[in-house]
Amino acid sequence: MSRIKSASPQSLPFTQSGSSPPIPTQYTKSLGPQTLAIHAGLAPDPATGAILTPIYQTATFAQPALGKTISPDGHTYSRCSNPTVTALENNLAGLEGVSHGLAFKTGLAAITTLLLTVLKPGDHVVAGEVIYGGTVRLLRDLLGGFGVLVTFVDTTDLAATEAAFRPSTKLLFVETPANPTLAICDLAELGKLAKAARVLFAVDNTFLTSVQQPVFVHGADVAVLSTTKYVEGHDSTTGGALLTDDPKLNERLALTRSATGSIQAPMDAWLTLRGIKTLPLRLAAHSASALSIAKLLEAHPSVGAVHYPGLESFPGFELANAQQSAGGGILAFELDPRILPRFVESLRLITLAENLGATESLITHPASMTHSQIPPATRQRLGIGEGLLRLSVGLEDIDDLVRDLQGALVIACGSEVQA
Ligand SMILES: *Cc1c(COP(=O)(O)O)cnc(C)c1O
Repeated sequence: MSRIKSASPQSLPFTQSGSSPPIPTQYTKSLGPQTLAIHAGLAPDPATGAILTPIYQTATFAQPALGKTISPDGHTYSRCSNPTVTALENNLAGLEGVSHGLAFKTGLAAITTLLLTVLKPGDHVVAGEVIYGGTVRLLRDLLGGFGVLVTFVDTTDLAATEAAFRPSTKLLFVETPANPTLAICDLAELGKLAKAARVLFAVDNTFLTSVQQPVFVHGADVAVLSTTKYVEGHDSTTGGALLTDDPKLNERLALTRSATGSIQAPMDAWLTLRGIKTLPLRLAAHSASALSIAKLLEAHPSVGAVHYPGLESFPGFELANAQQSAGGGILAFELDPRILPRFVESLRLITLAENLGATESLITHPASMTHSQIPPATRQRLGIGEGLLRLSVGLEDIDDLVRDLQGALVIACGSEVQA
């Protein structure tokens, strides 16, 4: 205790940065995304000058007196808050241009916290019908058991979405581009519908992040991120975030997080902070390569439909152009199901796996992998057929990726000729 009393305030961590981001909000709005990714909400460690926020690998914090904390951020116990996690939250909020962020162990932990905070038994949710499978399972199977009702609807159809609202609807939850069909829903119009119905509007922005798709300008109340994907971007952590401009909602969300114990771990928060420093650069590179590959596949005689928001032939192209700054790093395409197994087995560089948004290119067969829980007839209706492949375009050299895809197509098509 004596050491704490004798330490000068200047030598203690966070006496300068405090709980608010060091860069004032009006200034952050004029900075570019790459600058914000590196600097927003961050300052050299006041205790040591360390340029990166240290990993505060501690469960608890000494308190100088009853009801007092050393840091103005009020850290007492790392289930409630931790300086490394707070730095990540300030950085994510600064990048998004909102006042508050909360970081979680996984994307689904973030979504669970949102749902437990804003819903009670008897409440109704309108959710997109093509959203992350884990979100569907959570809403339908888990919260359904606690008396929450959910209607899954085609959120690209505004009339159908509006018709799904009931007096008990409390939340509109959407994802755009949708996984794995890349279907685009109109955030501005959905935001208006939610506002008119006094329904909270949450957007899962994992695919593009605020760097390529700002959602608060369209009326979102909460942005959801699985930082496991592009935000951390190196397949090294799982994590999630909730961002909002509403201090009261943020306080309620933080309470639920403390009550359920789903905060991000300091080490993972630090790795995520490091990942974010290159997020805009990485997203630009992912998107440029994805567009090249989408064009190549579209021109290939053995490839069926190619779904990519940056292709003019894509039904959501104009809408994507209006609300996204790029097409993103994910595309989907159709192959004859008879040649598809040979194709994925013949890829040398691109790996068959279930994740997306990392440096390595990954290919997924949604029907048998990520979306296998959905009954085949529903899958077919949603456009997730046996021939659909989802490609998360990584950061390898584009020429190498192109050679890999072309080589595998040659082998797979050869197998068709022989068959
Ligand atoms: C992966 C993902 C999630 C879930 O995130 P986890 O970190 O795996 O829990 C939620 N939404 C989308 C769009 C995702 O891709």
